[in-house]
Amino acid sequence: MTQLTDKIAIVTGASRGIGAGIAQLLAKRGATVVVNYNSSPDAANAVVEKITSEGGKALAVKADVSEEEGANELVKVTVDTYGKLDILVNNAGTTRDNLIMMMKPDDFDVVLKTNLRSTWLCSKAAVKTMMRKRYGRIINITSISGIAGNGGQTNYSASKAGIIGFTKSLAREVASRNITVNAVAPGFVLTDLTKDLPADITSKLNDNIPLGRWGAIDDVAYSTAFLASDEAAYITGHVLVVDGGMAM
Ligand code: NAP
Repeated sequence: MTQLTDKIAIVTGASRGIGAGIAQLLAKRGATVVVNYNSSPDAANAVVEKITSEGGKALAVKADVSEEEGANELVKVTVDTYGKLDILVNNAGTTRDNLIMMMKPDDFDVVLKTNLRSTWLCSKAAVKTMMRKRYGRIINITSISGIAGNGGQTNYSASKAGIIGFTKSLAREVASRNITVNAVAPGFVLTDLTKDLPADITSKLNDNIPLGRWGAIDDVAYSTAFLASDEAAYITGHVLVVDGGMAM
């Protein structure tokens, strides 16, 4: 099993959903995890408590990662506290779904800022310290919507496709410093982000998933833990699709 002993990891948006699951799995595998949150302190503290009650190490850090100050502070607190940063998981994300005719420019800006700008800002802050140590694993959580597109999600799909282009470009930039940059593209996973999708859409989705079910948070977490490990040392610029076969 993939071990992450002595690794220091940041998971952005780890107070809920997929991020919380990734943080818990990385900690189970031996990493010390910085659980980033923005507006849910109680939920973030509950994630930290769960990790520590199972013998792991974690710290909750508030930061709006879509702002330069927040992203820089998150990385600074981590390095000041633990002396290094080995793993960055850019997971924080949001949606503002609507048909393009009804979508407001602000819905576009918020989604691009929360999903894509945060990934760029946190990675920029992280590579500075990773380059010095000549080691790093960056994993960006994109989406199948960024590959196949999805009606009602022109803003979200653009942000997630942007993350894929970003992943490949940064992978080329930092490979010589022993830093890998990969993406995980989940299909549909039941979280706060997807719980309010209309029933007619969700029932149609099930028909289009060859493995016959929605993804579980752990399905995404296992893939992320693998890409964060030394066993994935020769993989970079890759997009690992975790969608039950939906988009093949
Ligand atoms: P979620 O349950 O809504 O959780 C979103 C997380 O992002 C929360 O922890 C939230 O923290 C955090 N966040 C949002 N804005 C932030 C900001 N500016 N700074 C710091 N943290 C911020 O969503 P999820 O379903 O777990 O999604 C996680 C990631 O997976 C997203 O990137 C999403 O696009 C991607 N994804 C999800 C699915 C799916 O089906 N669920 C499919 C494909 C991809 P606070 O509550 O503390 O603000």
